Amino acid sequence: MLELNHIKKIYHDGDIEVKALNDVSLTIARGEMVAIMGPSGSGKSTFMNVLGCLDQPTSGSYRLNGQEVAERTQRELATIRNRELGFVFQSFNLLPKLTALQNVELPLVYAGVPAQRRAEMAQQALDRVDLAHRVRHRPKELSGGQQQRVAIARALVNNPRLILADEPTGNLDSHSSVEVMALFQELHRSGITVVLVTHEPDIAEYTQRVIRFRDGQVVADEVIRPKRAEK
Ligand code: ADP
Ligand code: ADP
Repeated sequence: MLELNHIKKIYHDGDIEVKALNDVSLTIARGEMVAIMGPSGSGKSTFMNVLGCLDQPTSGSYRLNGQEVAERTQRELATIRNRELGFVFQSFNLLPKLTALQNVELPLVYAGVPAQRRAEMAQQALDRVDLAHRVRHRPKELSGGQQQRVAIARALVNNPRLILADEPTGNLDSHSSVEVMALFQELHRSGITVVLVTHEPDIAEYTQRVIRFRDGQVVADEVIRPKRAEK
């Protein structure tokens, strides 16, 4: 599903060249659940931005579902991001003035889905994260764990095949973190590919494969037996 070959991403900081990704080649198959680990500055965010078609590599090939991303137009990439990918962030990124339901509807607004259909789809996505009873609440009326579940519902509402999550438990207490990981495991069981960045070994244990970055390179890639997250 994700195929990267000799990916480099070079930033220029004045005269200094920063190799944020330095020859990364790897494949992530449909239905995998993967943790990306590595020290600060090792290239994790750059890697996720490339996977999410938010940033183009300097060189190398990235094929998403068999298609070379560099050959897509900006407009096609925007559609891929909206329809095929779901993004989850450490800081939830919910709009404070909107209700949970309205936040979840946003990707459908951009996709041009009619209002009634949007509300139905958002309601279904909130059901899926066990928040059917919180649809009228605004973010500040919800706990951190609940806010992250709203953000996951928003990532799910377009039925993406791939969820990309950057430190999704970074702002959560350990109980809410395990709940969020239980939810990702459920999505994974339903066939969604999940790639998440974490620097917490306890969180990586809930995935099936751990890829470690250092200085823009993959230094370890191991398949593990996932621990089951209990809600
Ligand atoms: P991580 O997410 O593992 O902390 P990053 O992908 O953010 O690592 O960064 C990898 C390297 O690329 C770091 O040395 C960082 O300073 C550099 N870098 C990231 N983004 C930029 C940018 N926009 N301009 C210049 N250097 C950058
Ligand atoms: P129909 O009335 O033909 O069954 P829907 O009510 O499901 O269609 O959808 C109405 C519009 O919303 C269509 O233009 C469709 O392309 C769009 N749409 C439906 N589902 C999605 C989705 N998951 N993501 C983006 N757009 C969608």
